[in-house]
Amino acid sequence: MPSPCPGRCNSAWRRAEELGRQHNLEPVPGEPVHCWSCYASAHTQLHQLPALFDAVYLEGEEGTLAKLVGTIGRVGLQAPPWPGQHARLFADGLGEGILILANDVREHLDEPVENPDTGSAAINRALGTLIRHLRWLLAEHPCATDSHGGRSGNPAWQIYSWHRSAEVFCKQDEQRPVQRVAPCPRCRDPWMRSRNGVVECTNLDCQNVMSNDEYAVHVQRLHDAAKFAGIAA
Ligand SMILES: [Zn+2]
Ligand SMILES: [Zn+2]
Repeated sequence: MPSPCPGRCNSAWRRAEELGRQHNLEPVPGEPVHCWSCYASAHTQLHQLPALFDAVYLEGEEGTLAKLVGTIGRVGLQAPPWPGQHARLFADGLGEGILILANDVREHLDEPVENPDTGSAAINRALGTLIRHLRWLLAEHPCATDSHGGRSGNPAWQIYSWHRSAEVFCKQDEQRPVQRVAPCPRCRDPWMRSRNGVVECTNLDCQNVMSNDEYAVHVQRLHDAAKFAGIAA
């Protein structure tokens, strides 16, 4: 029996186990470490990162503050940030993480490491290295079995975090409702909340944990029932 996948697919199961409450969640097994769906997500995210980098720079250009139209006497009163500064700094931070992980792979697999340089050519080479060795990263990297979340060094979690933060930076992330308004299916308590990608009942006697998918099915079921009863449209 393979160990449960350390990925986000098992966030709800891990949280339920951590709370020590009775639950019906089954962990997704790893094949051998990460499950196929977590592997496929990391692969897609790596492929999408170059386009997201472009979008980050674009965001920087479009979001630049207007230059001070000062002439003599107004110049130098206030130094405006240089054009696209916030995007540049954000992209540099992201690029640094990517280069570190790529060099990590190169070192482990006896490939020549590269000097830290966050130019786009170096980033694309680094992403290429990560894509080529994704199997190794997700199955054999020393942190491959760390659970995803928080400051985990798991490569799949790092890839997810870069992708996610770039999406948020470019406002391309899906806007999820923060408030979960459907009542808990177990205790009927009206307050469910979203936390670390898991939907959790705030009633301390219940603490029912659901994955986002399960919650979506639950909401749909309530909606269908209400529609049947003539309450909802
Ligand atoms: Zn998984
Ligand atoms: Zn509950």
